[in-house]
Amino acid sequence: MKPAPFRYHRPQSLGEALALLSGHPDARVIAGGQSLGPMMNMRLAQPAELVDLNDLKNLSFVNEHENALEIGALTRHHAVATSPLVRKHCPLLAEAAQTIGHYAIRSRGTLGGSLAHADPAAQLPLVAATLGAEIAVAGKRGERRIAAKDFFVSLMSTALEPDEILVSARFPKAAPGERHAYLQFSRRQGDFAIVAVACTLLHQKLKIGIGGVEDKPVVLLDLEPSDPAALGRAAREAVDPTENPRVPALYRKELVEVLVKRCVAKCLTSS
Ligand SMILES: Cc1cc2nc3c(=O)[nH]c(=O)nc-3n(C[C@H](O)[C@H](O)[C@H](O)COP(=O)(O)OP(=O)(O)OC[C@H]3O[C@@H](n4cnc5c(N)ncnc54)[C@H](O)[C@@H]3O)c2cc1C
Repeated sequence: MKPAPFRYHRPQSLGEALALLSGHPDARVIAGGQSLGPMMNMRLAQPAELVDLNDLKNLSFVNEHENALEIGALTRHHAVATSPLVRKHCPLLAEAAQTIGHYAIRSRGTLGGSLAHADPAAQLPLVAATLGAEIAVAGKRGERRIAAKDFFVSLMSTALEPDEILVSARFPKAAPGERHAYLQFSRRQGDFAIVAVACTLLHQKLKIGIGGVEDKPVVLLDLEPSDPAALGRAAREAVDPTENPRVPALYRKELVEVLVKRCVAKCLTSS
């Protein structure tokens, strides 16, 4: 199918992009187009105005700060997965980004697009929620920073206002000695995860993030790193999967138990 007709804009600055959004309430921004493109082709999205961010090259970066990495919204998934800074300081993020779709998707899709799209099964929202990232958005009223726990509101819904643009996200650097693990279950390699689990271990405290189960990532905090099987059972009880005829809630609970058990075991033995 082909998209419904739309007017195409290619702003040369963030200010120009923001002016286009505030002047056209029915406008949508497009970044990698890997989610919005298919939605427009299927006519699930029919924006009258499309604001293409791809000339805003200054939104593609990985910057190191004392305790965090700041990553620009237009940074492609492949660049996140292969960045030496991300691999060194946020290895969980690099590992999860490497599992997104296929190479073609990773070379176009962007960090900002994935966070703004807020698919509950997507890797980057899960990692952002698990690590406690902070998301920066710009609008005509200036810039504001939103904690990931407040940014993801529900299924494909975020705290972004329609006239705002996500500009970057700050991910805390892994502390010395921090361990991590990531696991997901998909029908085929490259498919969206049915369930994904990320965990970190620092100072005998485990954090477990679970994606694909509820309408946004679920994060279990301050857990004792005890028997992985017991933690798997506890996680199963903690989640309340949304009903989905293709993947029944009971099946996803089962997957949560198994994946949490394996992910915790992997995290406890990782170096
Ligand atoms: C075959 C296939 C397999 C895929 N598999 C996976 C997978 O396994 N895991 C996964 O996580 N994703 C997967 N994706 C989706 C992919 O990761 C997308 O890149 C991502 O979801 C959206 O990023 P994008 O840059 O392409 O955004 P776009 O498609 O351009 O935009 C998506 C949404 O975000 C908004 N948006 C984009 N950028 C901004 C911004 N800076 N500020 C405000 N709003 C913005 C758009 O308006 C739109 O609503 C897959 C896609 C395909 C086609």
